[in-house]
Amino acid sequence: MGTSPTHPSLPGLGQGGGTALLRLLADAVPVLLAYYEVPGLRCVFANQRYAQYSGMAVDALIGKTVRDAVGERAWQQILPYVERALQGEAVQYTREHVQDDGEARMMEITLMPHFDRDGDGQPHMVGAFVLINDITHHWAAERAVRQSEERMRKFAEATEEGIVFHREGIILDGNEALQRLTGYPLDELVGHPIIDFVEPGHHEAVREYVQHGREDPYELAIRHKDGHTIQIEAVGKTMPQAGGAYRVVVARDITARKQAQARADFLAGHDTLTQLPNRRSLMQQLARTLADAQHWRRRAAVLFIDLDHFKTVNESLGHEAGDQLLCEMARRLQGSVEAGDFVARVGGDQFVAVLPDIRNRTAAATLADTLLERVRAVYAIDGTPLSLSPSIGISVFPEDGYAPDELLRRADAAMHRAKESGRGTRQFYAPGMEGQPTEILQLEHQLREAVFQEAFVLHYQPQVEVSSGRLVGFEALVRWQHPQRGLIGPDEFIPVAESRGLITPIGRWVLREACRQVKAWHDEGLPRVPVAVNLSPLEFRQRDVAAEIAAVLHATGLEPRYLEIEITESALMWHTDQTRETLQALQHLGVGVAVDDFGTGYSSLAYLKRYPLDKLKIDRSFLTEAPANGDDVAIVTAIVQLAHSLQLQPVAEGVETAEQIDLLRRLGCGLAQGFGISQPMDAERTRAWLQALA
Ligand code: C2E
Ligand code: CA
Ligand code: CA
Repeated sequence: MGTSPTHPSLPGLGQGGGTALLRLLADAVPVLLAYYEVPGLRCVFANQRYAQYSGMAVDALIGKTVRDAVGERAWQQILPYVERALQGEAVQYTREHVQDDGEARMMEITLMPHFDRDGDGQPHMVGAFVLINDITHHWAAERAVRQSEERMRKFAEATEEGIVFHREGIILDGNEALQRLTGYPLDELVGHPIIDFVEPGHHEAVREYVQHGREDPYELAIRHKDGHTIQIEAVGKTMPQAGGAYRVVVARDITARKQAQARADFLAGHDTLTQLPNRRSLMQQLARTLADAQHWRRRAAVLFIDLDHFKTVNESLGHEAGDQLLCEMARRLQGSVEAGDFVARVGGDQFVAVLPDIRNRTAAATLADTLLERVRAVYAIDGTPLSLSPSIGISVFPEDGYAPDELLRRADAAMHRAKESGRGTRQFYAPGMEGQPTEILQLEHQLREAVFQEAFVLHYQPQVEVSSGRLVGFEALVRWQHPQRGLIGPDEFIPVAESRGLITPIGRWVLREACRQVKAWHDEGLPRVPVAVNLSPLEFRQRDVAAEIAAVLHATGLEPRYLEIEITESALMWHTDQTRETLQALQHLGVGVAVDDFGTGYSSLAYLKRYPLDKLKIDRSFLTEAPANGDDVAIVTAIVQLAHSLQLQPVAEGVETAEQIDLLRRLGCGLAQGFGISQPMDAERTRAWLQALA
C-alpha cells in the first residue's frame, strides 16, 4: 500500500509519480470520485469533492467503511445497490442529497466493480469505484418537460377540438375529441398517415402544410369512419424536439358553419318566395353564358317574362293568393324550359329565362310560345280558377347586344312593346325600341353581326425609307365588308365599335389576321418586313394586351420582331403603372411600339422619355400643307428633332407629293408612308408588291 494515506496506491494502477498525477486529475474533474477495496469496503482513495460530499477531509475518509462514510440512514438506502455491485455488476442509481445549506441536489451514482487477476489468471473483484455526478440541472429540465407534457395532455383532454400529434405526417397521438370527431379509436389512428383520413380533394393542401410546416389555419374535409365527410378547419404548429420536430394540429369541426354559409349563399342568390335564382344570380349566370356563347360562337336568347294584370290579382284576392300564383308560375316556367336553360325571378311578377344555345331566332320564338301557353293555362288559387297571360320580350346574342345588362334591357324593352301591342304575346327586340337614333342603332346592329361573321378585311400600306425608297414595313388598316354598302373605312365604324364594346373583338381579329397573313408571306419566301397594327386606346387600357399579343404571336408562329403596335398619344396620356408595365412587357416580348398621330394629342413630352418606344409617327395633318405652310414645316422640323433627341425613329404620315419627300430628306426624317408612295392595298396586291421586290 502507499506511503501516505492521502497517496494510496490502487491495486493494479501502479506506483510513484503516477499517483501524484492521479490525485491532481481526480481533484480537477467535476465528478465525485472514490475507491473502496473489497472485501471490507474501506476507502482507499477519494477526491476532494467526494470527501466534501461526505462531510470529511480526504485524510479522515481513507480507511473508513462506506457505512461510516455515508452514515447509517444512507447506508440502508444504498445497500441494495452495493450488494449488486459486490456481485460484480456495474450499478447506476439516482439519489436526492440535501446539502448542509438545505438545498436539495439530484445525484447520479455509478458503482463500478474493479477486477484483478489472481495467480492462475482468474479475475476476482478487488474493489469498486464510486462515481457521483450532480445532475440537478438536467433533472430539473426533464421535470419541466414532464410537467409541460402533463399540462398539454390535460389541455388536450379538456378541449372539444380534435388534437393530433404527428411527425412528418404519421400520427403519433391524438386526444379523445379527435377520436369522437373521426370515429376512429386511437389505435386505428396512431402509426397511420394523416392523409389516409383526408378527402382526396384536399391531399395536395395537407402535403403543402405538412412539408412546409405552415402554421396558418386552413379548411379541409376529412372522412369519418362511417364514410361521411366532415368539414374542418385545421391549424398546425411545429414543436421542436430533440428527436425531430413534431406537429400539433388542432382540428375544428366547421360543418355547421359551412352549412350556414351555404344557406346564406343560397339566400343571397335566390328569391325566398319561389326559390328561383334572383337578379344577382341571373347577372352572373348571364355573364358566363355570354362568354361561352362568344367562345363557341353560339346564339343565346334572353326572355323577359311579365305577368299581365298581376296587380289586380294581388289587390282583389290578397297577397297570399298573389304569392301562391307566383310560386305556381315559377314552377311552370321551370318545368317548361330545357335542362341547360336558366330561369330567374327579377322582380314582383317579372321573370327571365336564359337560353344559352339556340339555333336561330325561330327556336327562341318557339320556346316563348310554349311558355306563353303553359303560363296562360288556368290557375286554381284557393279554389278560385284564374286565367292569366304573360307578355314576353326576347333579345338575342349577338345581334341585339353583347353585354348582360344590354341584352336584359333590350328584352325588357321588347316586353313593353309586346304589352303595348296587345297583351299575352311575345316580341323580339328591334333597334329603336329603346328610343335611340335609329341610324346608329342600325349601324351597331349590323356591326355586331359583322363581328359575329368576321366580315372584315385588312389592307396594307407600305412604309419606306426616305433616302432609298426601301420597304421597311406595312401598316395594317381594317375595313368592314358591308353586305350592301361594300367596303367601309375605319373612321366610320371604329368610333361606334369603341362606344358599344365591340372594339375588343374587332381588335382581336385584326391582330390575329395581320400576324397570320404576314407569317404566311414569310413562309412563301417573300421579303420579311414587320406589320404594324393599330390599337385603340380603349383596347390598350382595358385588356391584358401584352399577354394577348404574346398568345397571338405564339399561335400564329410570327416572330415578335415582325410585329409593331401603333398607339395614339392619348393612350399614353394616362400615366399609370399599367401603361408602363404594358409597354415594358411589349419591349420584353420584342414587339415594336409606335406613337401614332403624334402632335394632335395633349403632348406631354415627359412620357416619351419614360416609356420604351420605337417610332414617332408625325400626324398627316402637318404634312398636308407642307412645304408651302411655314408653320407646318416648323412643326415637322421640331418633331423630327425631338424624335432624334429621344432616339426614336420619326415617320412621316400622309406623304403625297415629291416636294414633301424632298422636305423630309432635308429634315432627316428617315421613314415615310402615304399615297405618294403607295395607297393601302388589299392582301392580294400587297403580295404582288412584295413579290416584285423579291
Ligand atoms: P391612322 O393610323 O393614322 O392610319 C392612317 C390613315 O391615313 C389610313 O386611313 C390611311 O388610309 C390614311 N392615309 C395614308 N396615307 C395617306 C395620304 O397620303 N393621304 C391621306 N389623306 N390619307 C392617307 P384609314 O385606313 O381610313 O384609317 C383611319 C384610321 O382608322 C387610322 O388612322 C387608325 O387610327 C384607324 N384604324 C385603322 N385600322 C385600325 C385597326 O385595325 N384598329 C384600330 N383600333 N384602329 C384602326
Ligand atoms: Ca396608325
Ligand atoms: Ca396616324
